[in-house]
Amino acid sequence: MSADPVAIARDLIRCPSVTPAEGGALRYLDGRLQGVGFAVNRTTFSEPGAADVENLYARIGAGRPHLVFAGHTDVVPPGDAAAWTHPPFAADIADGMLFGRGAADMKGAIACQLAAALDYVAACGGKPNGSISFLVTGDEEGVAVNGTVKLLQWVAARGEKFDHCILGEPTNPNALGDMIKIGRRGSQNGTLVVTGTAGHVAYPALADNPVRGIVALMSALMAEPLDAGSAHFDPSNLEFTSVDVGNPTVNVIPGEARARFNIRYNDRHTRETLRSLIERRAAAAAERVRWRIDWEPSNADVFLTSPGPFVDLVAGAIAEVTGRKPELSTTGGTSDARFIKDYCPVIEFGLANQTMHKVDERVPTADIVGLTAIYRRILERYFAHAPQ
Ligand SMILES: [Zn+2]
Repeated sequence: MSADPVAIARDLIRCPSVTPAEGGALRYLDGRLQGVGFAVNRTTFSEPGAADVENLYARIGAGRPHLVFAGHTDVVPPGDAAAWTHPPFAADIADGMLFGRGAADMKGAIACQLAAALDYVAACGGKPNGSISFLVTGDEEGVAVNGTVKLLQWVAARGEKFDHCILGEPTNPNALGDMIKIGRRGSQNGTLVVTGTAGHVAYPALADNPVRGIVALMSALMAEPLDAGSAHFDPSNLEFTSVDVGNPTVNVIPGEARARFNIRYNDRHTRETLRSLIERRAAAAAERVRWRIDWEPSNADVFLTSPGPFVDLVAGAIAEVTGRKPELSTTGGTSDARFIKDYCPVIEFGLANQTMHKVDERVPTADIVGLTAIYRRILERYFAHAPQ
């Protein structure tokens, strides 16, 4: 390997890039990528009410196929730095583990992507048989309004298209090679509102208590599963996360009751069919109850990158390096893959995720070497026989 991925990971961890700070991390990538011939663009996006955020898009090659490595250099705050065994931005190595905020999520994987690309570009004399890009945001852990969404639009506006994307989020529950994410469930928030008539608790006939109605509706919505799952997804799930009457007075029947909920839904639904399913169920349970559901806007739709040649290529490289056959999963929370999927097929594969966002975040240095070898094999195969 012509570039040392562990050294790169240490350099990146030492950049204190807590969202939305750039911290020197993108400048570092800029320098390394330009050094081997990538055309690098740094873009700062703004929006009222949100911090300005720097992002990076770099490309080498002009032809197809076009493989893009995606990720983020921002990190969550370290919390109580004194609670760490090794300082969160020192990038110490102890007992074969690299410690630091972002080691797992996801400066470690960015270092692997970069080292693999530098090595591949050197091996092909600076002329890949297609194009390699880096799409790196500084706004993934924050509100994510000045990050990947705008960067993708910015690249598309230049007329550039991707064929496939590998996002380096930490996907492995235990060991490198456990799991590729080939999709994510959708996420939808809503508030169930039941309206009654306020009144004196001693004269219930003169009032209409919305608590009775909301309890009936909530229990109906929790009673029946939304579906039984699908080929690549767990069953969809609705969870109520709060129930609020906001009534400070014990002898007054309240006029309104609200319950907030979140649904994680699979590919048996679209957002529209999901909403109408919930409303049908509520209507069926609501005799003489005045209710409505306020749906929140969502930018987290369900998606699936169907298994096929590209997923096989990635899984094959993982198996050769680690000896493990990765599970193809759609579990977990959302990620920036939900935005990338509108532009090209995307899969996620990175380091192990046990310590992400925790005190003493760390990864084995052997995994950084292993993941670099996996990405390097993917590049080799991808440009030898591009999957359709
Ligand atoms: Zn992440």
